[in-house]
Amino acid sequence: MSREDYEVIIGLEVHSELSTKTKIFCSCPTTFGGSPNTQTCPICMGMPGTLPVLNEKVVEYAVKAGLATNCEISRNSKNDRKNYFYPDLPKAYQISQFDEPLCEHGYVEIDTENGKKKIRLTRIHIEEDAGKLNHDEFAGDSLVDLNRAGVPLIEIVSEPDLRSSEEVENYLRKLKSILEYIEVSDCKMQEGSFRADVNVSVRKKGESKLGTRTEMKNMNSFRSITRAIEYEIDRQIDVIEDGGEVEQESLRWDDVSGKTFPMRDKEDAQDYRYFPDPDLVAIKLSDEYIENIRKNLPELPESRKERYLTQYNLSEKDAKIITSSKYLSDLFENAIKVCNNPKAVSNWIISDISRILNETEIDPIEIPFDSNQLGKLIILIDKGTISSSIAKKVLVEMFEHPRDPEDIIDEKGWVQISDEGAIKDVVMRVLEANPQSVADFKGGKQKALGFLVGQAMKETRGKANPQMLNQMFLEELNK
Ligand code: ADP
Ligand code: ZN
Ligand code: MG
Repeated sequence: MSREDYEVIIGLEVHSELSTKTKIFCSCPTTFGGSPNTQTCPICMGMPGTLPVLNEKVVEYAVKAGLATNCEISRNSKNDRKNYFYPDLPKAYQISQFDEPLCEHGYVEIDTENGKKKIRLTRIHIEEDAGKLNHDEFAGDSLVDLNRAGVPLIEIVSEPDLRSSEEVENYLRKLKSILEYIEVSDCKMQEGSFRADVNVSVRKKGESKLGTRTEMKNMNSFRSITRAIEYEIDRQIDVIEDGGEVEQESLRWDDVSGKTFPMRDKEDAQDYRYFPDPDLVAIKLSDEYIENIRKNLPELPESRKERYLTQYNLSEKDAKIITSSKYLSDLFENAIKVCNNPKAVSNWIISDISRILNETEIDPIEIPFDSNQLGKLIILIDKGTISSSIAKKVLVEMFEHPRDPEDIIDEKGWVQISDEGAIKDVVMRVLEANPQSVADFKGGKQKALGFLVGQAMKETRGKANPQMLNQMFLEELNK
């Protein structure tokens, strides 16, 4: 049997760090990248005898996330202790939610080849993040940094409704954009603010029982997630085809070798002995509280997309790319305010900016220049100060050393040559140096004109105004 005879089943547990100012049970800051252990206190360091107090904002953000993903919000909920030992968790338990999560029974809609598909959410619950072990910096030692301990998380658990790595990527991008739009998480994947445990199983087509799953933990790049799923599907099918059985286990994906490996600690074999945290009061929410959050939810990606179709005349495809990220979408709207040229802004975002983001694997939120600078770049093209080929070079500069495009072109001497005399000089020189092309053009070969313009561009290192060149070549050639 081959891969076509199998069905792939995937369910995801997504962890997203909430962007509250302070931690979930104490008032330490949550900012990323501080020196190790500078953002800690006895509570988040897990000292005995300390008392946690739930940060109200965490509940609000989680309810927002639940409402934006069509969940039912529990009126009664609580925190539980999940017991396990790990050096990054000094208390030896994580405060999480077990049988009474804040949100349940939601869904996220994704676009597939066969139309829209609902991916059901089992639950969304709140919990605290653990600290971080630094293994590499000191030979032979591992040091613990507790700055991340107590940073609030929501865990979003999906039903096993996903059927391919493409659907997984679609779902994750959709979920990420929703969380960005409602501003509950910055979703910076490199910083671990948006990461997924990926559960994969396969079964023969027609089978109704689910196959045994393996779980790849803490994946935080779309590329690795896709590669890991593809690898794992093939591996599981090989095991079954060879007459073996897939073992339920946690796996670690290794990006370098492109393979999964069993993790040494068998976390799945553990019993967490959940019990209600006696230090924390129950979470009771009124209808009024929930309705108030619902009323104040900001515009979601789907409705922004619809709006772009009519307001800016974008195609469905372009609108989808731009609204897939709140940061791209804000960049789009704010740059239009500066240059008043929606078509140009959308073209720059969809082609050059997206290409650079892809190549460098950076998130839109990490774009180093602002909407004002993008708007100014477009004004410079519209005014004819620079050609669009120079503008592409300016954009690369803006990614590398963000500053105003005017400053870049001044520094680099990239201002477009639109002076008639200067253009004419170049045209005459190029015509003289290329008699064969001139003859070709006069003999009916239109393509020769393109070559001549290209030569003139080369001589001016891309700075000549292309429309003027074209026009002047034609004038001279038709004389
Ligand atoms: P945990 O991993 O914490 O034990 P669950 O048993 O609830 O939690 O499952 C976690 C995730 O695994 C869910 O997203 C669920 O959809 C997914 N899942 C469960 N069974 C399978 C399966 N047979 N194949 C693929 N995914 C599965
Ligand atoms: Zn603290
Ligand atoms: Mg799991």
